Amino acid sequence: MGVKAIYPGTFDPITNGHIDILFRSLRIFDHIVVGIGPNPKKAALFSLEERISMIQESVKGISHVSVETFDGLLVDFAKRHNAKAIIRGLRAMSDFEYEFQMALMNRKLDNNIETVFLMPSEEYSYLTSSIVKVVGSFGGDVSSLIPKHVHYMLKEKFNKNRG
Ligand code: ADP
Repeated sequence: MGVKAIYPGTFDPITNGHIDILFRSLRIFDHIVVGIGPNPKKAALFSLEERISMIQESVKGISHVSVETFDGLLVDFAKRHNAKAIIRGLRAMSDFEYEFQMALMNRKLDNNIETVFLMPSEEYSYLTSSIVKVVGSFGGDVSSLIPKHVHYMLKEKFNKNRG
């Protein structure tokens, strides 16, 4: 079965930055489970089903990637999968403090799972799902930052919201 890793996040929606990290992880690990987890701090624009389908479409034809949702603790989800690692992306220094805290807390909860940080290509180093949503909501061009089908979904969503 090989060495498995979990790539957790909110993915609201998946961006080219997430996909960049996913491809880098596939160079190291044999199987990646993309885990859409709960995020008490952020209200999501897209439903869980929409997020799953956008990720699945983005990784269509790529083997060794699966997509799931989970509730509760990330380390429990990782344990259920027998995963050796948690993948997180590091963009600017601003990510560091939060990620450092989460990684050490997860280690405290389960010392058998390592958090591995990967850096994206520079062109995505400022990219967040939030900025895509803000710019997209005002009609700005975000087409080079997200997959085509995600761009379509985003436009649909904002058109619907405008009613
Ligand atoms: P969360 O709310 O858990 O941070 P996100 O979906 O925003 O969920 O991000 C999931 C992971 O992907 C995080 O580790 C985040 O740092 C990483 N990530 C998001 N966007 C990028 C990007 N542009 N480049 C690199 N990593 C990214």
